Amino acid sequence: MQDYLSGLNEQQREAVLHVNGPLMIVAGAGSGKTKVLTTRIAHLMANGVDAFNILALTFTNKAAAEMKERIQRILNNSEARNLYIGTFHSVFAKILRAEAHRIGYPNNFTIYDTDDSRSVIKAVINELQMDDKHYKPNIVHNRISAAKNALVGPTEYALDYHLQQEDARANRPAIAQIYAAYAHKCFKNGAMDFDDLLLKMFELLSTQPAALAKYQSKFKYIMIDEYQDTNTVQYQITKLLAAMHENICVVGDDAQSIYSFRGATIENILQFQKDYDDVKVVKLEQNYRSTQSILKVANEVINNNKGQIPKELWTDNKPGDKIKVVRTMTDNEEGKFVADSIKEQQLRNHYANKDFAILYRTNAQSRAYEESLRKMGIAYKIYGGVSFYQRKEVKDMIAYLRIIVNQQDEEALKRIINYPVRGIGKTSIEKLIVVANEQNITMFEAVTRAAEFGFKGGTLEALQNFATMIKYFNTLLNDKNAYDVAVQVGKHTNLVKELFGDKTPEGLARYENVQELLNSIKEWTETPDNFEDGEVGNKGLGAFLQNVSLFTDSDKDKENEDVVKLMTIHAAKGLEFGCVFVGGIEETLFPSAMSINTREELEEERRLFYVAITRAKDRLWLTYANARYRFGQLVQNEPSRFLEEMPEEFLDKTYAGGGARNQGMSNMGTAFERMNRGFGGGSSGQTDLRYGVPPAKKPDNARPSYLQPAAISKPAVTAVHMPSENFVASDTSGLEAGMRVEHQKFGFGTVAKVEGSAHNPIANINFDNNGEKKIMLNYAKLRIL
Ligand code: ATP
Ligand code: MG
Repeated sequence: MQDYLSGLNEQQREAVLHVNGPLMIVAGAGSGKTKVLTTRIAHLMANGVDAFNILALTFTNKAAAEMKERIQRILNNSEARNLYIGTFHSVFAKILRAEAHRIGYPNNFTIYDTDDSRSVIKAVINELQMDDKHYKPNIVHNRISAAKNALVGPTEYALDYHLQQEDARANRPAIAQIYAAYAHKCFKNGAMDFDDLLLKMFELLSTQPAALAKYQSKFKYIMIDEYQDTNTVQYQITKLLAAMHENICVVGDDAQSIYSFRGATIENILQFQKDYDDVKVVKLEQNYRSTQSILKVANEVINNNKGQIPKELWTDNKPGDKIKVVRTMTDNEEGKFVADSIKEQQLRNHYANKDFAILYRTNAQSRAYEESLRKMGIAYKIYGGVSFYQRKEVKDMIAYLRIIVNQQDEEALKRIINYPVRGIGKTSIEKLIVVANEQNITMFEAVTRAAEFGFKGGTLEALQNFATMIKYFNTLLNDKNAYDVAVQVGKHTNLVKELFGDKTPEGLARYENVQELLNSIKEWTETPDNFEDGEVGNKGLGAFLQNVSLFTDSDKDKENEDVVKLMTIHAAKGLEFGCVFVGGIEETLFPSAMSINTREELEEERRLFYVAITRAKDRLWLTYANARYRFGQLVQNEPSRFLEEMPEEFLDKTYAGGGARNQGMSNMGTAFERMNRGFGGGSSGQTDLRYGVPPAKKPDNARPSYLQPAAISKPAVTAVHMPSENFVASDTSGLEAGMRVEHQKFGFGTVAKVEGSAHNPIANINFDNNGEKKIMLNYAKLRIL
């Protein structure tokens, strides 16, 4: 038996070996669902299925990266990079990049993040002469988003009796009108919001038979993790894609369905067996993740839900410690208790920072933990907070890069047309918007033709200069990579100089953020798409922007950083940690006061609680405070009803108040603080535009994953080369044009030229059987003949 099969239990193996026909695995937390999915992909590939024909949809990009890595390890080759693997959003964005023209969008469409969407919606509301205090952009956006995820377009929305009733009751009858105007504006701007990545994918497949046929025949095998959380549009897309081959495998756990507020319905699990004939159903019942105590408590809690598919998990793991249930006086003391306990555990049981996770119901709870961790000098990171790419100065710079790539992008244009200040005032900008609407042209075109529309004097000159500058940047795209273009932008727009001039601490931080952005672009351009063979791939600005727009903080590879992780329970799905603290287990907070009015809502809160406790492998703490500040007021809370649902014999209940013990611990904290001083210091290798040339930096394999090659590589026809016997990569430092070489994968070829910088040389090689390729010599498996 292959090695990868021998480590599986019988049911897991059965699922992996089921190759053809629909397959569904419904099983509890930690039973190896994700492991089975990963192994199954490896098994398909080991048996001759081409990676290009496999589509795997995961919950986070991080999960996708991990899966690829594991498959690579099992198969001991780099074929996994050819898989279509990632989140629904990232995979569909990739496909739409190649196909959007079929449905009237430019292929280099811009992706609007939530912030962008809300600002466009706000503009639309104002253009329609409505009040954005009443039609709050975030509320309107939520309605539109929910509609899109339920496959309800603007026309259907206007005609839907229930939606109209709801909006009328909320005294916001014009949402349908705003939705229509917003959709039109996005289309005109050549932009898609996050929801459009799903909606337009559906539109593509359902209205373009050629595209449907192409992707149906391509994706011979489809796999979906966390199936319980797919929503209507995701469900419909996968159904369309799977219709030809019906080789679709879904794994999920109805007890972990926690996204009904986003339109996910566990109906999808029940529906699956009706959609396909002969569905093979596999149940997994052994849990490999948690101690017996943790599992017992989790099972008991979820049994209080009436609506779950019955299943009982068991484990061979050790009994483990009891679950610590800890009461504190306030949220600050709760934070302090957690930080103290982390230190204590590290001393007693030799855990590293990264073995700990602190989970909470709402983002605002993170503050108390952060404060205590900082005081104790414990390194930590927040997943899913205000991410780097959401910061104003970073978004400004990115807006420049976006308008350079896509001049239809009105949001980007509005953001930077007068930043840094160049004398194009608010009235002029409003006039440009009106002109663009009247003439049905893009705003940028209105800028370029400003003279025609009555702009005069200084404003006209400023507009013309601006248009010339953007057009100039655009010409750079032909032969410059993303970093070189970005550096030019930083210089010519005075953006960097402006930030550098601000000497306040905030100004300095902003300056550093822009430098950090440039650093990250540089690293990205110097990272090959594939470490194995060193092939460069597309390092243009457009490719970089796509990379960035799908980046979220939770995807950043913090796995290897030794930090305590803080995140909401929603963000923790699918993950596991040695030690887990779940905080704020109080009535009105967890379950949330907003979710106790119906059984359905309460059961979803309980599922969320189940997800939280099943993240723990060894140790689990559940904490609650008697009182905490919420919305500016000190609020007294009862302990959560969920605490009463857990069997007493597995609990160890304590009170952690102030007093001597905490005093002692915090003294120890200062000692640790001293030891840890220096952690998180300034970033190295910064690109400093003031002095021109960036300092050289050695390529570094351990870079964060958002800088790593995108999850999917373009299908390219590669003639497979069987390397000569005893192929050993040689020192390529003396490589010159004209030399003959052998590449481990691409075969024999002749060097056309060597370019790039001294620390990152790139060779253009004409391969006899694979055409011309750019190869990064730092990574290439190449020998000079
Ligand atoms: P969740 O519902 O939380 O997503 P899951 O069902 O996807 O959980 P996995 O994450 O795949 O579970 O597996 C949980 C842990 O158990 C992982 O550390 C995995 O490596 C381990 N595991 C799974 N199956 C086996 C096995 N047969 N032998 C040893 N370890 C296993
Ligand atoms: Mg999983």
